[in-house]
Amino acid sequence: MSVTDKATARHAVRLHITGVVQGVGFRPFVYRVAQRHGVAGWVLNAQDGVHVLAEASDDAIARFVDEVRQSPPPAARVATFDVTPAAIAGLVAFEIRESAAAGAPTVRISPDLALCADCLRELFDPSDRRFKYPYINCTNCGPRYSIVYGLPYDRPRTAMRDWPLCEHCSREYADPADRRFHAQPVACSACGPTMRLLAGDDVVTGTGAIEGAAALLARGAIVAVKGIGGYHLACDAANAGSVAAMRERKYRKERPFALMARNLEVARTLVQLDGNAESALTSIERPIVVAPARRPFEGVAPENSDLGVMLAYTPVHHLLFAAGAPDVLVMTSANRSSEPIAYDDREALSSLAGIADAFLVGERPIARRIDDSVVRVVGDARVVLRRARGLAPEAVGTFPTTTPILALGGDLKNALTLVVGGQAFASQHIGDLDHLSARDAFVATVGDLCAMYEVKPEQLTVVHDLHPGYRSTEFARSLPGRRIGVQHHRAHIASVLAERDAWETRVVGFAFDGTGYGDDGSIWGGEVFIGSLAGGLARVGHLRPAPLPGGDAAARFPVQAAAGFLYDLDDGIDFERPPFSFPKRYADARALVKHRVRTFETTSMGRLFDTVAALTGFTREQSFEGQAAMWLEHLARSSGSVAPYVLPYERDQFDFRPMLASVLADRRVGRAPCEIARAFHFAVANAVAAVADAYNADRIVVSGGVFQNALLVDTLVAMLGPRMWFNVKVPPNDGGLSLGQAACALAELK
Ligand code: ZN
Ligand code: ZN
Ligand code: FE
Repeated sequence: MSVTDKATARHAVRLHITGVVQGVGFRPFVYRVAQRHGVAGWVLNAQDGVHVLAEASDDAIARFVDEVRQSPPPAARVATFDVTPAAIAGLVAFEIRESAAAGAPTVRISPDLALCADCLRELFDPSDRRFKYPYINCTNCGPRYSIVYGLPYDRPRTAMRDWPLCEHCSREYADPADRRFHAQPVACSACGPTMRLLAGDDVVTGTGAIEGAAALLARGAIVAVKGIGGYHLACDAANAGSVAAMRERKYRKERPFALMARNLEVARTLVQLDGNAESALTSIERPIVVAPARRPFEGVAPENSDLGVMLAYTPVHHLLFAAGAPDVLVMTSANRSSEPIAYDDREALSSLAGIADAFLVGERPIARRIDDSVVRVVGDARVVLRRARGLAPEAVGTFPTTTPILALGGDLKNALTLVVGGQAFASQHIGDLDHLSARDAFVATVGDLCAMYEVKPEQLTVVHDLHPGYRSTEFARSLPGRRIGVQHHRAHIASVLAERDAWETRVVGFAFDGTGYGDDGSIWGGEVFIGSLAGGLARVGHLRPAPLPGGDAAARFPVQAAAGFLYDLDDGIDFERPPFSFPKRYADARALVKHRVRTFETTSMGRLFDTVAALTGFTREQSFEGQAAMWLEHLARSSGSVAPYVLPYERDQFDFRPMLASVLADRRVGRAPCEIARAFHFAVANAVAAVADAYNADRIVVSGGVFQNALLVDTLVAMLGPRMWFNVKVPPNDGGLSLGQAACALAELK
């Protein structure tokens, strides 16, 4: 197409745009805008982002640049947008050039995207070529990170490489004006992958597979459904028998299951959603949103007043609901217990054989496993509790360095961070490294990120936790290059600062969690720091140390933590009798403390929460990490307002003894456990605020697993307002550690 050379002066500019600009329809978008404004030139994808040369009259250039800047495609995330003058080349047409492969790739691969409205319409349009086709997608939606084998993002480097395009699809793929122009996973029922339903010895292919799966779900069956980043186990959430069977077969005792709702209207009946929570739920990332439950589902989230809900995000989900699947499905990662999600077909079929009644198997391979992301809305912030599908591997911070840094995180809720080209890319949630399959995923993800961003292992500065026994630390030792160890709780505080690019800001930081290896080799977890990323974080205070008997088991049995924390306070109380009714484990643990056998010092705030949970009724073994603290939070949320207990901070220590004495006294006079739980939560919040004031802090940072507690965080937000910073992009739990580790390591390198 030619442009007329108007009387006005001709002009040329170059644009360089970085961020998530590949695989999101950026080039066709630029092409269409150029057509509209009569701009000549070209657009191309390079490894360092999108480059554009635009040539036209002054006016047209200005309008073109404005529109490209103001209204990028929905899935694009522009990080930088540079405009520089260029020499006039006398171009007459605008074209999309082929990808250039030169230089180190710093461009970011897009996360996986939920089905868009246009594709959804076509999916249910009987006259459309892709009517009921389960792999429908376009440049604005569909899988990305989960199908990529390498960069730049082109079909031969994706899981679609084995399906050559039919004539129709290739025409769309090659037409810059088409919504599917260079949509790498594009396919149709004539040329693309399909789905099969395996139920017993029966195999059904095509649309019948999905109809069959929907019918099985409606009858109460458990169906393994292949999704974007792995298999889900699905069943009717309203069928208590199915939910109970799922728990039993999965060996998952009490940990909450996520739900998938047919649509937003159904989701609104499940949980309380404000505007911000609805935007999170319907966002292109389609995460699981944790919100207060509005109706009970037996067995879905035992003793928990929240539910985690997501909306359908793949064509298969939409097709299942349309084919008659129940309105609300349990949709949980397909695995046994807490192992990583199954994503390989053969592995899924064998490992889930005793769990699923049927398998809805899609032919498109999954390049890497990715769980669903989990978020919660705090005020107008969307707090990420598990960072995975839709979010990974986006950058979560900008680092003033060109040195590549690989931070390995911790052993629980592991996730990695790779800093390259000044961008910190956070991996998807990997899981707990005591599982062999999680360790495999960990090693694979290290290789994956390094390959994707073309970093050689020997160039890396490798960062790990100080814990000498962590698997991640052991792995760090096996890598070449420089190694830096970073203390666990400093990394938690640093993760908040790194998210905000706050390298110089001086803060008071509170890192509260269950367990982390301290500078002195003891178990920390209730720490106060002062300082900045650039200047270092000095530990200035902590929870009063308590004896913790019995090693690792103390984290599983709240009464065991209680035996340590109550040691100086419990004279004469028979805890085996009501109102406490502790199991014998308490007395055994107390004996360990008395004789200082297998007893260690801890400053863990998580164990203090466990102690109060034990005193208010949680006397059994926890069936998942953090369960007792979560239980205590929900107990507290069921109480009206109460006067807080007092958690004094004296000589740089939070002294828990007066507070526990009050708890004991209140319990013995029959005060409602929910009031005790609430008075405890407010005592912790007050103590944080008081210490922040005592240090005259303008900026308060909180991080660590304890701050997954919505009641605690909401209370602190109400007290401290915007002075308080908390994690938003990476989880406050150990899933956010690696980002903080990378930030601390960079400070050390400088
Ligand atoms: Zn689409
Ligand atoms: Zn086709
Ligand atoms: Fe931690």
